Amino acid sequence: MNTGFDVYRLTDEHDLLRKTVRDLALDVIAPRAAEIDLTGEYPQDVHDALKAADMLAIHVPEEYGGAGADKIAHCILVEEVARVCASSSLIPMGNKLGTTGLILSGSDELKARYLPAVARGEATFSYALSEREAGSDAASMKTRAVRDGDGFVLNGTKAWITGAGVSTHYTLMAVTDPTRGANGISAFVVHADDAGFSVGQKERKLGIHGSPTREIYVEDCRIPADRMIGEEGTGFKTALKTLDHTRLGIGAQAVGIAQGALDHALAYVKERRQFDQRIADFQGVQFMLADMGMRIEAARQLVYVAAAAAERGEPNLTFRSSAAKCFASDTAMAVTTDAVQLLGGAGYTMDFPLERMMRDAKITQIYEGTNQIQRMVMARALLK
Ligand SMILES: Cc1cc2nc3c(=O)[nH]c(=O)nc-3n(C[C@H](O)[C@H](O)[C@H](O)COP(=O)(O)OP(=O)(O)OC[C@H]3O[C@@H](n4cnc5c(N)ncnc54)[C@H](O)[C@@H]3O)c2cc1C
Repeated sequence: MNTGFDVYRLTDEHDLLRKTVRDLALDVIAPRAAEIDLTGEYPQDVHDALKAADMLAIHVPEEYGGAGADKIAHCILVEEVARVCASSSLIPMGNKLGTTGLILSGSDELKARYLPAVARGEATFSYALSEREAGSDAASMKTRAVRDGDGFVLNGTKAWITGAGVSTHYTLMAVTDPTRGANGISAFVVHADDAGFSVGQKERKLGIHGSPTREIYVEDCRIPADRMIGEEGTGFKTALKTLDHTRLGIGAQAVGIAQGALDHALAYVKERRQFDQRIADFQGVQFMLADMGMRIEAARQLVYVAAAAAERGEPNLTFRSSAAKCFASDTAMAVTTDAVQLLGGAGYTMDFPLERMMRDAKITQIYEGTNQIQRMVMARALLK
């Protein structure tokens, strides 16, 4: 495996994007974050604000009417939104997750059919791979797609689908040939208004309360055959290739959550006094802060270097994106936990956002493949 020295340089456009997103996040999203967490309602106002700022789908290529933003730019967008509200960062993240299979493996005709509406913010996509009995072992899925004349008839249930009930479209993986294992899975575009498509109740979760997670059901759902993404039997490969790209976004989300927690912890320790001095002046506190800052910076660099390598089309993306997601999410969990600790009793209350950030951080170690699975993926790449 090539572990050579890779560099990246943030451009003026990246800096401008960061400033624009940070302003939007601080003005519009941050004041809503606690309420979004409390009510668990989908933040349509944040969705609308991101849409108005053309930030729902900046990754869509220019030839399909999008901004064609590079992979580091998308990470910056996600990081800055997650810094104030992890739930809201899932709006552009989920859309990228849902459309990346189409971008990577879809025919020109299929891309031209859907991506312009995604770029305009009129269509949004979710990604439907997991099932209750097929999470880490996603290839053991049971949802079937059976050929029927010029279409396919879908039957089955997908679980834990981010954005379900809000998205207008779904990239759904289903078994077309049960005798061929992972090579018998195909990917399809399903519309929310297709007959036979429905969604379940919202899951009640530890965190990311403003991001709806639901089961989706396809019951004798008939779709035209030309909605297949790529060739028949390539759906699982498309699903995994998608994750190679979008795990960078989880890494960026984790960096953002961790940075947000450090921001609040720093402000607090400079104000809070005990034993007649600022708690920031205790060396024990300073060492914790230093470790938090160090870990966040290391995670950020790993994410950006991986994103730059992905942009250059380097072959070892699988290792890099798993490493970035795994390291950044473990960092987010550790940093948010320490941030709660630094606020003492106050950190444990909902008067401060740290307990929310700690709850939100946890999901980054679980979705798009648990961190155990990331370690398996990395080890496999190393041993190849
Ligand atoms: C909020 C949320 C949003 C999600 N969004 C989506 C989405 O949009 N689309 C989608 O398709 N899915 C989504 N998921 C599903 C998510 O990707 C899965 O939950 C995840 O991959 C783990 O699968 P599982 O829950 O079945 O856990 P399991 O696979 O049952 O794992 C349970 C435990 O066993 C460990 N384990 C499993 N296999 C191994 C192994 N071989 N070696 C070592 N340890 C192992 C795991 O690491 C974990 O600790 C979402 C989940 C959540 C909670």
